[in-house]
Amino acid sequence: MLGLMQSQQLLISTLITFADRHHGEAEIVSRRVEGDIHRSNYQQVAARSRQVGNALDRWNLGFGDRVATLAWNGYRHLELYFGVSGSGRVIHTLNPRLHPDQIVWIANHAEDQVLCFDLSFLPIVQAVHSRCTSVRHYIALCDESRLPVDSGIPGLISYEAWIGAESSHYEWPDFEENCASSLCYTSGTTGNPKGVLYSHRSTVLHAFAAALPDSLNVSARDAILPVVPMFHVNAWGLPYAAAMTGAKLVFPGPAMDGKSIYELIELEKVNFAAGVPTVWQMLLSHVQVSRLQFSSLKRTVIGGSACPPAMISAFNDVYGVEVLHAWGMTEMSPLGTVCTLKNKHLALSAQEKLQVRVKQGRALYGVDMKIVDGEGLELPWDGKAFGDLLVKGSWVASEYFKDEGSELLVDGWFRTGDVATIDAEGFMQITDRSKDVIKSGGEWISSIDVENIAMAHPAVAMAACIGVAHPKWGERPIIAVMKKQGADVSREALLAFYEDQSAKWQIPDDVVFVDTMPLGGTGKMQKSKLRELLKDYRLPGTDSGD
Ligand code: ADP
Repeated sequence: MLGLMQSQQLLISTLITFADRHHGEAEIVSRRVEGDIHRSNYQQVAARSRQVGNALDRWNLGFGDRVATLAWNGYRHLELYFGVSGSGRVIHTLNPRLHPDQIVWIANHAEDQVLCFDLSFLPIVQAVHSRCTSVRHYIALCDESRLPVDSGIPGLISYEAWIGAESSHYEWPDFEENCASSLCYTSGTTGNPKGVLYSHRSTVLHAFAAALPDSLNVSARDAILPVVPMFHVNAWGLPYAAAMTGAKLVFPGPAMDGKSIYELIELEKVNFAAGVPTVWQMLLSHVQVSRLQFSSLKRTVIGGSACPPAMISAFNDVYGVEVLHAWGMTEMSPLGTVCTLKNKHLALSAQEKLQVRVKQGRALYGVDMKIVDGEGLELPWDGKAFGDLLVKGSWVASEYFKDEGSELLVDGWFRTGDVATIDAEGFMQITDRSKDVIKSGGEWISSIDVENIAMAHPAVAMAACIGVAHPKWGERPIIAVMKKQGADVSREALLAFYEDQSAKWQIPDDVVFVDTMPLGGTGKMQKSKLRELLKDYRLPGTDSGD
């Protein structure tokens, strides 16, 4: 017997329709490539996303066809999120930080039909367009007056002229909620990038989960600054969760340095921001050096790589900003866990709470997880046993795009590539990515633990731990350190700093100072690049290193 309830497909168009009707005046503020601050709201975004729907129909773009973007976080990108997916096409967010050859490979693999780009990325499009064989239309995200002349890009038109010619009356089509809505490629640290194809259903369910109080706690009272890019994993789903709740959105555009982010937070009274640790490190450095305080910022979600405890403390103790440590990945839309305390933790001391908060957190409803040993047997949740982390759930990938037949799942579980512990309360803690774990004399050393200690030193801005071959131990950790501007620490002092905090065999063998830390396409430290840079490095007292 079926239930007797109305059945409404969980479509992305329902999010913007809701925001339009119930939160039409909630603001969408964007720092633009043009250099100014642009103000819009859900009503305008909804109207313009309907114009996008009409414009795509006029070109007879097929259901499920891919419309690619090379764009910063901003209102036009948001309109494309809703207009493209809402009208039944798939928005494919390309990562502009990738190498042009990779962009070509990905655009061709995705068979993109349309490419919309911010003017900052004109040189990329000029470099790649002749090799993007499926793209039929190029759109510059600007108005007619800024459209570059003689760009060499065939048929280039401006976004404003393109949608300006269309009516804002548009009936969003109704279709099956499992249809594809957006496409994002993993950064492809191993082999070619892989396409993760989200559905309307997975996206809407993920938005519900993201908004929950024990998750990111998104509401109509929030002003949210997603520093996480809309070109990677849909800015952690925040644009959808914001539309679902009517939260104000503040987009940073291309200006991601500490000063610009701080100014935007203050100017727009942002109370909630989201980003990877490297971005927050830049923000913290700026407020520390300039002796500033936050007047509106109350909480920030930090994920994408491990958030050092020193950063959690700095935000909390010095600036009164709560840090939500979160974990996930492209294949998980991306949220898997968020670290929020349980009732029983409330009586703990500040130090004890910090011990909990540094973990990656508890599973959200909709995702389940387990850790297994080398034979695939489940390990206990005791906070000590560590093993491969497996997940499954409503917004976890089942296979990669155009990769049918590959065995992505093991008995329905997705192998994350992370190594983790889970404690009796269900709090998961990442020990490492399996490829970053350092195996020294039969023991495993967590590169994250080694980095977290260095990050607690006042002179250290960024720290990355990698393993280097050692004739006796197999591998030993070294730590690459970028110092804070104007701060200093010697190799010996930093190694001494480890002594009280680490078992002797876990202390890195050496410190290598670097001027800049190699960052990947999503702003995370890129250890593969670091290993490449240090390929001729030899551990003190050995002549081996390869
Ligand atoms: P890629 O970096 O390859 O593009 P993702 O952006 O999907 O992939 O990143 C997913 C990976 O990032 C996770 O598998 C995990 O290793 C790492 N990660 C994400 N959040 C955290 C976190 N809070 N702590 C530690 N590692 C994290």
